[in-house]
Amino acid sequence: MASWRENNKHIRILRDAEAGKYGVIAAIAYNIEQILGFVRAAETSRSPLIIQFFPWAIIATEGLLVRTAADAAARASVPISIHLDHAQSEDIIKVAADGLPFDSIMVDMSHYAKEVNLQKTRELVDYCNQRQIATEAEPGRIEGGEDGVMDTAGLEACMTTPEEVDEFVDTGVDALAPAFGNVHGEYGSRGPQLDFERFNQIRTQVRGRVRLALHGTNGFSPEILKRCVEAGVSKINVNKLVLEDYYEHLHSNAGKMPHTQLFEEGIQKVADQTMYWMEVCGSAGKV
Ligand SMILES: [Zn+2]
Repeated sequence: MASWRENNKHIRILRDAEAGKYGVIAAIAYNIEQILGFVRAAETSRSPLIIQFFPWAIIATEGLLVRTAADAAARASVPISIHLDHAQSEDIIKVAADGLPFDSIMVDMSHYAKEVNLQKTRELVDYCNQRQIATEAEPGRIEGGEDGVMDTAGLEACMTTPEEVDEFVDTGVDALAPAFGNVHGEYGSRGPQLDFERFNQIRTQVRGRVRLALHGTNGFSPEILKRCVEAGVSKINVNKLVLEDYYEHLHSNAGKMPHTQLFEEGIQKVADQTMYWMEVCGSAGKV
């Protein structure tokens, strides 16, 4: 194994999680209060953490939000890595890898046909690795239809196959985000219908060559998330699960208290909700 991988914080965080059989929260940040809340949660809980961004954050803030998070991560007393989620263009991946402090980038070429997807993924994984950045990819499609509601046949067709596992592991990625009934966005009234038999097949096929990431956790119960961690997921992408209370706080209190108080209490809302899920995933107290 190339020596840079031994020193890549993201890879180390996920490897330790897999070995210790716990999951690490990978939280999407949209602003600085959320970054502060996530870091506070990690330090208070003595938990590792992944802070991640959509390409939106790079474009909207000219990279400032990413650099801010990396600064916070470098100062933290617990391991925190910075990840780019769903980077879907070659341009944004190169901008991110060349000029921003990412430890890991998700190379998402799933909008291309399979062969082109694999070819582009291979090239971009190599591009990132040359800059000592880890990578993640998504074999199969973690669909998000209208309100995330899709019939079972539709979901089944999008699920990751053992063959796809090998194809994507061969591109050189460090983590895979399998589709086993999970969807981006909302699940609708039936809630998540996860196929753990499929997940176990995927995990067996992986044979420890890469770590496994869980996408699409909006509306998950603690029980379902625990079951995913027990099944072997190491990276837990979260959005609503850790940000809902914060947005509710803004809705209820904006204009009714001083801005300083609004933001300070907002940071604590993010921290409290994040600590709850760190406990659920078993990462609290691990560092
Ligand atoms: Zn995803």
